[in-house]
Amino acid sequence: MPGVTRLSVRNIRKSFGSHEVLKGISLDAEDGDVISLLGASGSGKSTFLRCINLLETATDGEIFVDGEQIRMVRKNGQSRPESQKQVDHIRSELGMVFQSFNLWSHMTILQNVIEGPVHVLKRPKAECIAEAEALLDKVGIADKRHAYPAHLSGGQQQRAAIARALAMKPKVMLFDEPTSALDPELVGEVLRVMRALAEEGMTMLVVTHEMSFARNVSNRVVFMRQGLVDSSGTPDDMFGSGASPAFRQFIGHFGGEQ
Ligand code: ADP
Ligand code: MG
Repeated sequence: MPGVTRLSVRNIRKSFGSHEVLKGISLDAEDGDVISLLGASGSGKSTFLRCINLLETATDGEIFVDGEQIRMVRKNGQSRPESQKQVDHIRSELGMVFQSFNLWSHMTILQNVIEGPVHVLKRPKAECIAEAEALLDKVGIADKRHAYPAHLSGGQQQRAAIARALAMKPKVMLFDEPTSALDPELVGEVLRVMRALAEEGMTMLVVTHEMSFARNVSNRVVFMRQGLVDSSGTPDDMFGSGASPAFRQFIGHFGGEQ
């Protein structure tokens, strides 16, 4: 549904003690947008994603997921979500994929994928299993459904983590450096799955250092610097003559990979 705003973040700030890590960040993702979030280590990318899915509470600013505003209580410099029920609901609408896979090690891949739909969404188990098998097939690891995470390669584990997130039928997928922990030869298989998702129209916000993904898969690139959005635009603008000096310098470090 083009024109539907899936995620809207307005003027988010986040401090840890006296250290202000996010200094007023705004971002909108329309249905089907694939936004690459780039920036040097320490620029606040992970904190930004963690504020969106409420693993951290923003000190100030507003977040809307699929039009619903996350209600916050802010008093004496402290900040917390008003309703745990709303937090649970919002989290179920945001699929999150981390650098470190984060699969439950004591569960098989299939159990990992059905856990959320069965126990959080309380959906019928047989239906969840059928959907999980289709998702595992889609990410190319249907044959691993009864294996435990430790028996999978990093690339397979990350594809399982993507399937697990998709099983909740999220409105938006958030990725935090999904390929950074992988051996170079396994990066491609995860990027291919992400590219297929993008082509299906999934709304995605992706923190990545994969310049080829930013350039060729995303429709918007946002460059963060020291807790602010330095610049943003289409990949053609950002990687072309429209780049800010800071972004130009940043991508200079990735020279060979563009
Ligand atoms: P990035 O993901 O862009 O590398 P982060 O969001 O992880 O950046 O970190 C941004 C800054 O916030 C860093 O200086 C980091 O040390 C600080 N930071 C992140 N999380 C915490 C925390 N829980 N407590 C204190 N400082 C933090
Ligand atoms: Mg990070």
